[in-house]
Amino acid sequence: MSKEENTFEHLKNKGFLGQRQDDYFSMRLHTAAGNVSAEHLRAMADAAEKYGDGYVHVTSRQGFEIPFVHFDSTEKASEYMNDAGMGPGASGKKVRSVVACQGDRVCKRGLIDSQDVCEKIDVMYFAEPVPYKFKIAVTGCPASCLKVQENDFGIMGSIEPKFAEVNCVICGLCEKACKVDAITITEGKLYLNRDKCILCGDCISACRKDAMQVSSEGFTIFVGGKVGKRPRMGNRILKTVGQAVVFDVLEKTLNYYRENANDGERLGDVIERCGFEHYGETIKYSLLK
Ligand code: SF4
Ligand code: SF4
Ligand code: SF4
Repeated sequence: MSKEENTFEHLKNKGFLGQRQDDYFSMRLHTAAGNVSAEHLRAMADAAEKYGDGYVHVTSRQGFEIPFVHFDSTEKASEYMNDAGMGPGASGKKVRSVVACQGDRVCKRGLIDSQDVCEKIDVMYFAEPVPYKFKIAVTGCPASCLKVQENDFGIMGSIEPKFAEVNCVICGLCEKACKVDAITITEGKLYLNRDKCILCGDCISACRKDAMQVSSEGFTIFVGGKVGKRPRMGNRILKTVGQAVVFDVLEKTLNYYRENANDGERLGDVIERCGFEHYGETIKYSLLK
């Protein structure tokens, strides 16, 4: 590695991304779950004025960058933010900042504590080395505000309904509440189409007769999603599992990715190349079709 490459790699590890303007860098900072304290906001504002161009850029992954830091100021800017308690963000072949919606801590529709799961994943996996970029998102319900299907590993809060026919008075409230037409009432009979059901639980909330009940609830997992030049929607592999399963599948998926990926290959491409069954067998789970 040349001296120049060495310097560039060193700066990249400290969160500095080279700009199109010679000798200027955008300083990426570490955030998780899209939260930043008032103290850190003040530190970023100060650093932007001292070392940047007086503004902070909000990235597409709930992160922050301070652009226009001159090469000569990189060490000082880095020290300043480290002292303020904000480390560098990740780029290159690493697990990137983990993103999450507010989940049931704030959002009325939240089915899980997205922030809690996100914070734990961040502690365990942020900036871990991988064959290429690896993006993780946590979203509180099937509204998928955090677009988990576009991530290498996506986690979604979910509730699966079961129909207790004996209590049903065929009022039609659940049919109206279901936005994906998974419930239909024909000639006085209710049909629940499980293939169409996205596990939002709205029919359960709508029913006043306890005829739509909770069958299972927890986390639904998607893998292999990405956007960019060759977008791919993630596959839904498991539904309404517990948190322990989420962490087990994530650990095994990262190992699978490290063992099977060609250099620069995203998880979705590895799964397509090696086959979905191979992935399921390797992580030792029976996956949804
Ligand atoms: S995904 Fe669901 S829980 Fe999260 S912000 Fe959107 S609506 Fe709320
Ligand atoms: S859980 Fe949601 S998607 Fe499934 S049947 Fe009920 S309302 Fe429809
Ligand atoms: S809302 Fe409840 S009672 Fe009404 S049709 Fe649906 S399941 Fe039956």
